[in-house]
Amino acid sequence: MSQAEEVILRGLPISKGIGIGSPVFFFNADDEIPEISIAKKEVEKEVERYRRALFLSRQDVEGLQKMSLNEGPPEIVAILGTHLEMLQDPLITTVIEDKIRQLQRNTESIVHHLIEEYKLKFSTLQDHYFQERVRDLIDVSRRILGHLRPLDKVQWVDIPHHSVILAHELVPSETIEASGTQVSAFVTSAGGITSHAAIIARAKGIPYVANVDIKLLKRIEMQSMIVDGSQGLVIMNPQRSTLKKYQEIKKGHLEKFRLISHSSHLRGETVDGYEVRIFANLENPKEVDFLLKNGAEGVGLFRSEYLFLSKKMFPTEEEQFQIYRRMAKNLKGRPLVIRIFDIGGDKKIDVLPDSPDAWYFQTIGVETNPALGCRAIRFLLRYPNLLHSQLRAILRASVFGEVQILVPMVSDISELRTVRQKTQEIREELEREGIATAPISIGCMIEVPSSAIICDALVQESDFVSIGTNDLVQYVLAADRSNPAVSDLYFATHPSILRLIHMIVTSANRFCKPVIVCGESAADPMMVPVLLGLGIREFSVSARHIPLVKHTIRKWRILEACRLAEQALEYTVAQDLRQFLSAATDAIV
Ligand code: PEP
Ligand code: MG
Repeated sequence: MSQAEEVILRGLPISKGIGIGSPVFFFNADDEIPEISIAKKEVEKEVERYRRALFLSRQDVEGLQKMSLNEGPPEIVAILGTHLEMLQDPLITTVIEDKIRQLQRNTESIVHHLIEEYKLKFSTLQDHYFQERVRDLIDVSRRILGHLRPLDKVQWVDIPHHSVILAHELVPSETIEASGTQVSAFVTSAGGITSHAAIIARAKGIPYVANVDIKLLKRIEMQSMIVDGSQGLVIMNPQRSTLKKYQEIKKGHLEKFRLISHSSHLRGETVDGYEVRIFANLENPKEVDFLLKNGAEGVGLFRSEYLFLSKKMFPTEEEQFQIYRRMAKNLKGRPLVIRIFDIGGDKKIDVLPDSPDAWYFQTIGVETNPALGCRAIRFLLRYPNLLHSQLRAILRASVFGEVQILVPMVSDISELRTVRQKTQEIREELEREGIATAPISIGCMIEVPSSAIICDALVQESDFVSIGTNDLVQYVLAADRSNPAVSDLYFATHPSILRLIHMIVTSANRFCKPVIVCGESAADPMMVPVLLGLGIREFSVSARHIPLVKHTIRKWRILEACRLAEQALEYTVAQDLRQFLSAATDAIV
């Protein structure tokens, strides 16, 4: 393909805006492993490199084993024992060493091929034992590969300004480190509209297009590219006229953004004076000032798991306390809703291999369906020590502001009760230690169909409820929020979702409990008026979107919004509902 040729690919629009920059390929640990020939005289050095990786892997597993002998269930000790045996098995030791000598290729590619061979061999066997062994083998090989290519990952600090990041997939902990000045746009093969990487890209205003064949891009020689996050277009080697056109569009967007941002300091209220409270969703505790500048009335959702995701280790009670206290103080009496760790699901676990926390994830193993697995409150109830230290830190911080607890992924009322009971026990424990605590509200996230269906019971036991539409849509419509292949099935403007929200608001109103919407649909100009009409008076959105939400709310009268919601509830076909809402809301894009 000639260098100057303009090539356009279409993908899935994830985060709006225009990004112009130079391409940088970003590798994930499990991405393609390059095949490199090794000179004969270098072969023994390569074998040595492999032995070192094996040695470090054994050290990891032995460390984990020691720790779990004291704390962990016996199954874990057994699994780690199997891993240790595998690391000494001739298949892993001599067979690979022989292959390095025989094929004279880099160790990574040899380990990778061997695993692929085994996966294929056993894929047709349904036998549980064999499936488990393959899983163990994958686990062990990942550990070895991690030690073989520790520096393969591009570091953010090395990325030049105005880069377009091209990757198979982005994990949230990576996206959170990216800065808007360095990164002009993201383009990935995998990733869905409300995957966490997507939420963060939108919160930072970085354009993002997914479902693009990155392998194909690697074959195209290119100096520059344009990413149109609104249309889902990726343009390589743009012609001068194309570049000019997109520079104009970008200028227009910036102007529109500037105009809307004037709304940030205005009150959140409808034309006829109904008050609507707008809070911010937060991943980075350092951004409290930023959200206040954008006109937030407080933090409606602090995704505390990011303390883990970016550090790749669980913060201690003391570390958490310091962070929560600082946030509460900076918010000066405004609410701080701390969602307890929502670990798992699409928040991919990337734990430091030599950290003691690797143990928790070994016990879960590789889940074939993590969204339905040991995630959020399920994970915390499985490891009560983590819940205990987090609740202690929150309660200790409670005297420094208006701190509240939010429980994620509740699918049964007993989960909420356990958190309430533990909170009370910890309060008494702190009192005995002479540490002051303040009364604290405990809210329940409604993001799983079972909790939406029993919302009448849940609201009675919650001080407030928070509707997480990102997960609610995923679980109700059975469409993975991170999978671009089902993105056409994943949207909040589905009749089932509106009806569920209606049900939840009705129950909450009956028991006079506040209800807030904190999923991405709370910032969708097409959804905001319907939510308003359904009775939602509290929204929590990323700080960047607060001006847009206020701007939208300030254009509506409550009666008109109610009429809109009433009509919307009549629809039974998703597509018809979408068309109706799109026309009726005159969405600002
Ligand atoms: C949600 O599910 O809507 C939500 C706000 O939580 P998260 O996106 O962090 O899963
Ligand atoms: Mg959620």
